[in-house]
Amino acid sequence: MVDLDDVRRIVGERHVVDGAALSGRPQDFWVHTPTAALGLAKPKDVQELSAMLALCHQEDQPVIAEGGRTNLVGATQSTGETLLVSLERLNDIAAPDRQGMTVEVGAGAIIETIQQRCATDGLRFGLDFGARGSATLGGALSTNAGGFQALRYGVARDQVLGLECVLADGTVLSHLSSFVKDNTGYDLKHLFIGSEGTLGVITRAVLRLHPAPQSVNTALLAFETFEAVAETLGLMRRDLNGTLSSFEIMWAEFFHFNVDAVLNGRSPIEGRYPFYILCESEGFEAEADAALFETVVGRAIEDGLVADAVIAASSRQRQELWRIREDFEAEMQLFKTMIDFDVSLPVASMEAFVSEVERRLNEEVPGNLGLHVLGHLGDGNLHVTTGLATPEGKGEVRRLVYELISGYGGSISAEHGIGLAKRDYLHHSRTAAEIATMRALKQALDPKGILNPGKVI
Ligand SMILES: Cc1cc2nc3c(=O)[nH]c(=O)nc-3n(C[C@H](O)[C@H](O)[C@H](O)COP(=O)(O)OP(=O)(O)OC[C@H]3O[C@@H](n4cnc5c(N)ncnc54)[C@H](O)[C@@H]3O)c2cc1C
Repeated sequence: MVDLDDVRRIVGERHVVDGAALSGRPQDFWVHTPTAALGLAKPKDVQELSAMLALCHQEDQPVIAEGGRTNLVGATQSTGETLLVSLERLNDIAAPDRQGMTVEVGAGAIIETIQQRCATDGLRFGLDFGARGSATLGGALSTNAGGFQALRYGVARDQVLGLECVLADGTVLSHLSSFVKDNTGYDLKHLFIGSEGTLGVITRAVLRLHPAPQSVNTALLAFETFEAVAETLGLMRRDLNGTLSSFEIMWAEFFHFNVDAVLNGRSPIEGRYPFYILCESEGFEAEADAALFETVVGRAIEDGLVADAVIAASSRQRQELWRIREDFEAEMQLFKTMIDFDVSLPVASMEAFVSEVERRLNEEVPGNLGLHVLGHLGDGNLHVTTGLATPEGKGEVRRLVYELISGYGGSISAEHGIGLAKRDYLHHSRTAAEIATMRALKQALDPKGILNPGKVI
């Protein structure tokens, strides 16, 4: 284990936190027990981080890099022997390159701050999700986050042109390329993106940007059948001329529960339907975009696909519609011991999968507190959530759902990663040969296993 005084000599006395100051904060977004760790160090740049990791490597010191600690899979959970490393001081955002549409950003920058900085130059950073106000670039890249606009701009991985990171032994790997085309050997950045801090610590990235859209159109659509939902997705992708940016599904149980919770029961749509879609298009010509959006929604109604619809008439109404989708406060209360699944599936299998989960839960886990289903349908990604009065039985529910997802040929983690929570279920989505290759990579890059030990594999 390292001597914290040696760490203080590298990053400065003021930038190491330990004792009550550290244990006074919760582990992460979900786990509210005190943080257990040897200390928390905040290097100011890549040189300090490199020196710190070299020291940790020499002393066999376990290290966990952390951003906003908003991950949903226990990926930053630590023990009393862990040295935590926060990237919060590496949060600089350079002036965007407006011609090349790129920006260089430190790993500690907050997602929402990056979005806002780029917007002032008329540019869009194409990554957005509920934790935008706390999550950092380093965390989002390390979990390969997805979110609301993956349909239009891709996932976190797709936003990265160049990357700098530090290996377990302190070696700095820097390839801050801003080129879309750069076929110079192995594309190492993709090893670190999505590896949850187990192969290296990301310090900086060059991000690809897009022109900032000038108009947004939002609608809530109600459906009688899942087939009609799937058909409408295809129709909107085609007929909105590539401007469809979100297509979020909510099964009725979640939708009505949240309408009651966040809008005091004032549903924007009268009646009750089995499926609801919150969809959005973003374009560059306000009047023409609004007219096209209305036409396409109207056509889906005329064709008998959409049973009812409301188009947001103001930004206030748009925010209200998004609150139904994004607010999880009431759900967290309802489900007590919440058990959530973030899965990918072919759209064609989704309805059968959800029905089977519901049936099996009711038959085999009679004490379950219900089932909420929502997700980023445009990306084939569902969030399936249930709950139990007490934590007993949690493992049984997980086993049941992961076996089902495996049977449907889906992925046990669409966008949240593996961390600790899904590590023991990885074999449902990856073959033995793939897991062995992951272990070989881990052994090559972090032979002493000091980086985020016990996570992912
Ligand atoms: C309300 C809410 C909504 C969410 N919605 C979505 C969503 O729609 N889509 C989605 O994909 N995710 C969503 N998430 C989860 C999201 O993936 C994570 O919140 C985010 O990507 C993690 O960023 P963070 O800075 O908080 O990372 P942390 O939680 O601090 O860390 C996450 C992982 O990355 C590692 N890490 C952190 N920084 C670095 C670094 N610099 N170098 C190497 N490894 C590092 C950590 O060790 C850990 O393994 C949501 C979370 C919340 C709380």
